[in-house]
Amino acid sequence: MSVDSRSELDRAAEIAASLSEVRARIDRACAAADRPPDSVTLVVVTKTFPTTDIGILQHLGCSDVAENKDQEARLKAVELSHATPALCWHMIGQVQRNKARSVAAWADVVESVDRLSLAEALSAGAVTANRRLDILLQISLDPDDADGRGGVRAIELPDLAARVSALPGLTVRGIMGIAPYPGDPDVAFNLLESASLQLRTVLPDADRISAGMSGDLEAAVRHGATHVRIGGAILGKRAIVG
Ligand SMILES: *Cc1c(COP(=O)(O)O)cnc(C)c1O
Repeated sequence: MSVDSRSELDRAAEIAASLSEVRARIDRACAAADRPPDSVTLVVVTKTFPTTDIGILQHLGCSDVAENKDQEARLKAVELSHATPALCWHMIGQVQRNKARSVAAWADVVESVDRLSLAEALSAGAVTANRRLDILLQISLDPDDADGRGGVRAIELPDLAARVSALPGLTVRGIMGIAPYPGDPDVAFNLLESASLQLRTVLPDADRISAGMSGDLEAAVRHGATHVRIGGAILGKRAIVG
């Protein structure tokens, strides 16, 4: 056995162990919230980690991976394009309009849509690529306007949702939020949960709530998250903060 495949085996064992801990955390959080364990989908955040890690995750039964940079994600998606079963690629980072066409070619879900101009560019890209994209509208959960994370104010959500859902090539599936840190995640995710109710008065089927990261997944599950985005707790420390 080569040194390379030896370290690959070590890495696989390491990921398998942390993955099962995270799955156990999700199961416990669901039980505590009186929710069925399969009501929460684990999305593994693979930004900054190598494509080989994504291959390992796939062997361990992970179907959904998330990235936050167009170029890095596109290269990984191309490398893994023949993997079976096919992976579901989520874009969770802010997207510049001039990158939208590229994102539309590799992403299956874009979670960070917070303005109509971006949705229009994604729509054009999806139509050109003959693809459909699932869209989550990102809600700002910051208490003030000093927010660098992006996101639409909850009050603007119904209008944006109606406009985005009218665009060809896109399907609005729900919302995404990032709890401010420091801060109380229960307060943030409570706001997200009520935004979801609001959204469903306009789009009854748009019931996904993407919320919760390594540090706050329990609070997210308490407040109805259908998807949690977990990076560090599964793959370890990121070399670059992304
Ligand atoms: C990086 C990132 C995550 C994962 O965060 P961890 O703390 O590593 O679990 C989740 N959501 C978004 C939007 C991110 O950028």
